[in-house]
Amino acid sequence: MTMDLVEQMNEQEKRKYVKGKKLGEGTYANVYLGHARHDAGVLVAIKKIKVQKEYKDGLAPDAVRELKHLQELLGHPNIISLLSVFSSKDQNLNLVLEYLPLGDLEMLIRDVDRVRYGTADMKAWMGMLTRAVWFCHDNFVLHRDIKPNNLLIAANGEVKLADFGLARSFADPGTRMTANVITRWYRPPELLFGARHYSGAVDIWSVGLVFAELVLRAPFLPGNTEVDQINLICRQIGTPTEDNWPGVTQLKEYTVPSEVVPVWGKDAYMSRFGGAGSDGVDLLVRTLALDPKNRITAREMLEHRWWRTDPRPTRNEDLPRKSAGGEEKAAVDLSRRNGVVDDGARGTKVARKLDFGAAR
Ligand code: AMP
Repeated sequence: MTMDLVEQMNEQEKRKYVKGKKLGEGTYANVYLGHARHDAGVLVAIKKIKVQKEYKDGLAPDAVRELKHLQELLGHPNIISLLSVFSSKDQNLNLVLEYLPLGDLEMLIRDVDRVRYGTADMKAWMGMLTRAVWFCHDNFVLHRDIKPNNLLIAANGEVKLADFGLARSFADPGTRMTANVITRWYRPPELLFGARHYSGAVDIWSVGLVFAELVLRAPFLPGNTEVDQINLICRQIGTPTEDNWPGVTQLKEYTVPSEVVPVWGKDAYMSRFGGAGSDGVDLLVRTLALDPKNRITAREMLEHRWWRTDPRPTRNEDLPRKSAGGEEKAAVDLSRRNGVVDDGARGTKVARKLDFGAAR
């Protein structure tokens, strides 16, 4: 193809959409509402990647990854769809995504006063999340940033996994990968200990913490620092040792508090997470196995009996929705993107409230 033709095609794609007001801001992109030029009723989200001069072709690796993985994962109902891509002036890259107007799971979890939900609702949301993660892993993609804030909600109530800026493929198990991924509260122990070879199990840990957060309506392990995060894991789940995780002490950054806490059993979880029912708690415990080799996989999660026992998952159209006036939440969102969270006071309070030690 000649350059002219490429440019023409790009111009054509670009002309299909009209950009509107700003919806939100991520680390490497601004997100705008948009609509199809031929029909103002067809809404889209346009994610405009910020140009970053430090990268040689002007594109942040995050942006390239997001584009690549969204293209690979097209067609699953629980993964945000990429509708088009075009570049605008100064070589800015624009991703045209399906518009997801009903906020995200974090908004629902936090709006304790106005949003009520129960086991059947959590089962529906967790089912959609698990199917999304299974699809990623089945296609050799690790998401590496699963958290309630990245689970957006479509007009029909469907939950969609979004923000693939940190995703990568893991087709080659020998490759060293960075340990500095996943927002701290959702980061598994192997990454906190600096593991460079890891698997889909990293996402499963985050899925488990989303599950725990749905039940508690507060983050389960809101560490203020990495050291604090490890301490919380040791206290609330158990101390990783050679007994429960052979080889863990060999990890480069392995350090744990000297007082060893035995791994909590299902009974301890029942007293905190009973809201998920006994089968739900069984599933939760399996997602939070310290040793990634013992952690349940997405496929095994889908085969778990929890989905088939009563109550059945709520139908999408009957799921609780964000209440009107959720806008004030957007401002809070901006201040806590990508783990740059600064609500330490609340974090400590929650941690104290949830200390299993106190329940003994
Ligand atoms: P992101 O960088 O993908 O996390 O996007 C930043 C913010 O933009 C999100 O927290 C949402 O508020 C908003 N946003 C992103 N994608 C969409 C979408 N497809 N539909 C509606 N809002 C979105």
